[in-house]
Amino acid sequence: MKLRSKNISLKWKIFATFELFAIILIAILWLFQVVYLKNVYVYIKEVETERIMDEANEVVMSGDNISSKLTELASGKNVAINVTDTSGNSIYNAEFNPSGQLNVMPKEVFQEYYNAAKSAGGNAKIIFEGHQIKDNPQLNMDMSPVNNRTDFVQNRGNDMAQSVIYVRIITTDSGDYVLMVNSVLTPVDATVDTIKIELIVVTVVVLIVAFILAWISSRAISKSLVRLNDSAQELAQGNYDISFDEHDYREINQLSETLNYAAEELGKTESLRRELIANVSHDLRTPLTMIKAYSEIMRDLPGENNPENVQVVIDETERLTNLVNDMLDVSKLEAGAIELDCQKYNLTESIIGLLQRYNKLVEQEGYIIDFKYDREVEVYADEGKMNQVIYNLINNAINYTGENKRVNVVQTVLNSGVKIEIIDSGAGISPKDLPYVWDRYYKVDKAHKRAVMGTGLGLSIVKKVLEMHGAAYGVDSNLGQGSNFWFVLNV
Ligand code: ADP
Repeated sequence: MKLRSKNISLKWKIFATFELFAIILIAILWLFQVVYLKNVYVYIKEVETERIMDEANEVVMSGDNISSKLTELASGKNVAINVTDTSGNSIYNAEFNPSGQLNVMPKEVFQEYYNAAKSAGGNAKIIFEGHQIKDNPQLNMDMSPVNNRTDFVQNRGNDMAQSVIYVRIITTDSGDYVLMVNSVLTPVDATVDTIKIELIVVTVVVLIVAFILAWISSRAISKSLVRLNDSAQELAQGNYDISFDEHDYREINQLSETLNYAAEELGKTESLRRELIANVSHDLRTPLTMIKAYSEIMRDLPGENNPENVQVVIDETERLTNLVNDMLDVSKLEAGAIELDCQKYNLTESIIGLLQRYNKLVEQEGYIIDFKYDREVEVYADEGKMNQVIYNLINNAINYTGENKRVNVVQTVLNSGVKIEIIDSGAGISPKDLPYVWDRYYKVDKAHKRAVMGTGLGLSIVKKVLEMHGAAYGVDSNLGQGSNFWFVLNV
């Protein structure tokens, strides 16, 4: 089944985000360059003109080289500076802006501004909005005397430019002066037009570049995800050999590694499952066949109804019971459904008792099971579970030991605990199999020999129980030299 998301794809999301970002950027640019340009410019100019006013004020107060310093200031900043007495007679004059003409200001206008400054505590600011004087552009540069207020005022601003006159009354030892600074506030429309054209070009270029970049990057980012998804779908369909090889970004790389790990683990589980079914069905079938065959013989042939044959049926039933019990134990242990019932008990005594179960085997089949210990030792553990561990290990040792049929059990008391070793002299385990013997259903020899019929569950039960006890455990083995399964229990 192909899984499809109803949500917008990552590719389009990245693409849309990119484009949106570009559009917002351009919108901000337009807003500031075209819509607010005039306001920002006027504000900056006003602040600057006020500063010029302060500087001019200082120059006049210093009384030193006033004329040249004012000229320098006015030319540097493109403004008009005019210093008059309180009747409006020009004393120092420096005019470097197009509408200037402060020195030819009509007396009535001077009086008006002077009064405005006086009544406002010494400072006044007169703003001139632009006027429609397109038909009379030469007014801008006309330096001939202006005779009336209208002419003067009209010269301050035209339809494009806003202008301001700052008026300040300065009081010195030698009397009062009036200082005026005239500055054009707004940029000419041509500037705005140029910026607009530039912006249109910038907008188009940015949108195209953003489109291309968005397309490339969104494809690049989503490409590896799409491929990972394809592989994951194959995995979902049971192809555990699939490998995830996307390494474009760190996160994608990590995801690939995780998926590879998951595929590997799923593969392992799958092959274990298959093996389990094969093992279990084989292990169940063999004793069942035997039970059926012997029972039929005993039913049909009265002479065969003897204790030996009945014993075979009993033995096979026991094998089945063991197998089912092992399977139940493993599943309970793995589900965490079993809790330890720990108590102090004599481990040495317990092992001696356990070994007595093998007496028949020793007597009848010639096995030699030797238990070496220096002294009896007590441990705090779950006796039943520990017996199961030791029993499983001894059973394995008996099953896999060599011709000499010898199994050594050794107890060594250490500083921190007690070490139990179960040593056989059999074929040993090859280094490549060694790490896996503790896994569920793992059998080194996959071919089932009747004599050595295990479930592949024994060691995984051992491992689980020892881990629950916090015991160290391991196996040392060399091919042809037998194996030494050991664990260390805390005392
Ligand atoms: P099984 O019931 O098959 O013995 P275990 O979990 O007890 O299952 O053991 C897993 C595998 O480890 C066995 O199939 C066997 O191949 C190997 N093994 C266990 N104990 C020994 C041993 N003492 N000597 C050699 N091989 C062993």
